[in-house]
Amino acid sequence: MRYYLQPFATALTAMALITSIFSVAATASEVQTPSAGAAAQAQQSGVYRYRLGDFQITALSDGTVPLDVHDLLQGVKKESIDGHLRHAFLANPVEESINAFVIDTGKRLVLVDTGAGDFFGPEAGGKLIANLRAAGYEPSQISDVLLTHVHTDHSGGLVHNGNIVFSNAVIHVGKPDVDFFLDTANQNGVNGYPKEYFEQATACLTPYLKSGQLQPFSGPTQILPGVRSVPTPGHTPGHSFYRVESKGESITFIGDLVHVESIQFEKPKVTIQFDVNQAEAAKQRIKQFGIFSKSRELVAGAHFPFPGIGHVDTNNHDAYRFVAANYRNR
Ligand SMILES: [Zn+2]
Repeated sequence: MRYYLQPFATALTAMALITSIFSVAATASEVQTPSAGAAAQAQQSGVYRYRLGDFQITALSDGTVPLDVHDLLQGVKKESIDGHLRHAFLANPVEESINAFVIDTGKRLVLVDTGAGDFFGPEAGGKLIANLRAAGYEPSQISDVLLTHVHTDHSGGLVHNGNIVFSNAVIHVGKPDVDFFLDTANQNGVNGYPKEYFEQATACLTPYLKSGQLQPFSGPTQILPGVRSVPTPGHTPGHSFYRVESKGESITFIGDLVHVESIQFEKPKVTIQFDVNQAEAAKQRIKQFGIFSKSRELVAGAHFPFPGIGHVDTNNHDAYRFVAANYRNR
């Protein structure tokens, strides 16, 4: 039956195509200035709201950046990478989201990570402030910035042309990251970890250090009412989650626990070149996947496809999957 009907379907498609070609031609002749038509158009505002108890969570896109996962992922063969990517309808390089989040508690306006700022050039990242404004907030209204860690795609947005962007914010960050990235002995790179990371970290943090706005914490810390830090070293020494709770609901901002969703959930042992401590990063990921798949609590990742909010699920002890949160718009 299916095959019998196909010629009709094909004929209908062809007719539809001819009709659409004619209507496009007719429209084009009427228009004085041709529009961009099917040419690439910029995304509209990268803003997604999520209600958590009394708090309003807003995911903000800083844009995306192409990631050469063949080159960057460690402990996995190229063929295996391609198999996972094919399974997810992706190909190398993978377009990687850079997500940041605003927590509006009613009393404080808290920003989790700041995107890459100017550091990735005009082609990638750097869209956070435009999206923050599209969400109805000004940078000067941010009372607190929670850095999951000091890497340029998270702390780069702290500065613009070397100047402070969040003039009224306290910057909270795990002390081991400040110690590691600002240590004068590390500035030329350490243990094969390149110099650029340290230069960029210094450029982002120093203005806030001088202004007295930088407030590093050590260990699990109640940062604000309903917001506490959970140190999760591995990717960087001071990498921290932020667990946010309101009216019995929770969300945990997990930063860079995962870089490539399509591979590292199924193969959590796979690490990435950016991990300061590869073995510790893998161990931390496996531990946290176990915790979140049991608790079934909501997580938000800096590099899951925007808006990056969802759950960790498992069918067995070694492999996991990310389930994006259902969309709600009413
Ligand atoms: Zn990152």
